[in-house]
Amino acid sequence: MATENEFSPKEWSFKGDELLVRSSAVTVRGVLDKLMGNLNPNDPRPTIPLGHGDPSPFPSFRTAPEAENAISDSLYSAKFNCYSPSVGTLPARKAVAEHLSRDLPYKLSPDDVYLTSGCTQAIEVILTVLARPNANILLPRPGYPYYEARAIFSNIEFRYFDLLPEKDWEVNLHTVELLADENTVAIVIINPGNPCGNVYKYEHLKKVAETARKLGILVISDEVYYHLAFGKNPFVPMGVFGSIAPVITVGSISKRWIVPGWRIGWLVTNDPNGILKKHGVVDSIIAFLNISSDPATIVQGAIIQVLEKTKEEFFLKILNQLREAAETCCSKIKEIPCFACPSKPEGAMFALVKLDLSLLEDIEDDLDFCLKLSKEESVIVLPGLAVGLKNWLRITYSVEPSALDDGLNRIKAFCLRHAKKQ
Ligand SMILES: *Cc1c(COP(=O)(O)O)cnc(C)c1O
Repeated sequence: MATENEFSPKEWSFKGDELLVRSSAVTVRGVLDKLMGNLNPNDPRPTIPLGHGDPSPFPSFRTAPEAENAISDSLYSAKFNCYSPSVGTLPARKAVAEHLSRDLPYKLSPDDVYLTSGCTQAIEVILTVLARPNANILLPRPGYPYYEARAIFSNIEFRYFDLLPEKDWEVNLHTVELLADENTVAIVIINPGNPCGNVYKYEHLKKVAETARKLGILVISDEVYYHLAFGKNPFVPMGVFGSIAPVITVGSISKRWIVPGWRIGWLVTNDPNGILKKHGVVDSIIAFLNISSDPATIVQGAIIQVLEKTKEEFFLKILNQLREAAETCCSKIKEIPCFACPSKPEGAMFALVKLDLSLLEDIEDDLDFCLKLSKEESVIVLPGLAVGLKNWLRITYSVEPSALDDGLNRIKAFCLRHAKKQ
């Protein structure tokens, strides 16, 4: 039997942090959990997950054999059981610097590279470093809600600039200039785009850099989908324009190698003029990394081989799969009257679809659409509100082709069933 507590309870002096709860409520995960909770447990059909971008469970998206061997070599070498320096091990930083320099007009030094636990931690690092009283950052709408979550938590004000669907989701640079003031510190772009599935042209990226220079701010370029471009525009890293304005690139192997569980990424300073160093940003990055955790040393040991040994064949195979999946997705969307896709996806893993609610009978908005779709058809699709664009949908097409067909057919059946009768 439990012993009686001899003291009468005192007021406990601790409590949780409401700011944290508020920050996490805006993440994609929060919305997807709600949709998963609405599934009908009696539907015998498999659930089709077109809501989030992790194709790693699907056999046709298995990572490269060279990458798997790299992990096992790293493990059995017994050389990587140690702690890592907080900025990452030198050989791994060197490998990432060389890998990324191939696409740049100058050479990155290993000192420009900081290894992080995925692109997620790289975003955490830079937003924490930039937080100071009254600072604000400019975020794309639609965008990736982790930026908002981090900004709320670090007490940085954020201001939205719009991406233009009729111009392949280019940045509305005019609004960027109107939004910025003397407290603006950075602009965030995501290229190739999540959620838009777009790939920016060289000329447009150059204009973004020139605008940043004019405003005296840095560019944070989220290139977690780097090289996942299968349309008319090749992938161009923002770092190409690092001498126009300082660029901080954040990325990882999570999406290109389809191993988001390996948790390794990077924050890279693309700043040939040394402006970030001069303004203390580099020291702050190092200081923050000194008080946070590092990516597993085993994976840092492996990344050298992952980057050097993965064959072109693997990348081409994945790009072809994504291109075909995007085609399948677009042609099905065209058959659905209440859907419009103003800009064909050319990169990453998503299509953004505009909902015409006037053609539907009993659907209130995008969230209502997704909740009912989950209940009636066991298909999960992300409502646009989760990425800042109400009454749009983000459909992930990076799933097994048979599952994609099945999912799109169920979405079509759902739309026809809910269509307004003439
Ligand atoms: C997936 C994703 C990330 C996070 O990448 P990890 O390497 O898994 O941490 C960051 N930014 C965008 C835009 C993403 O889609």
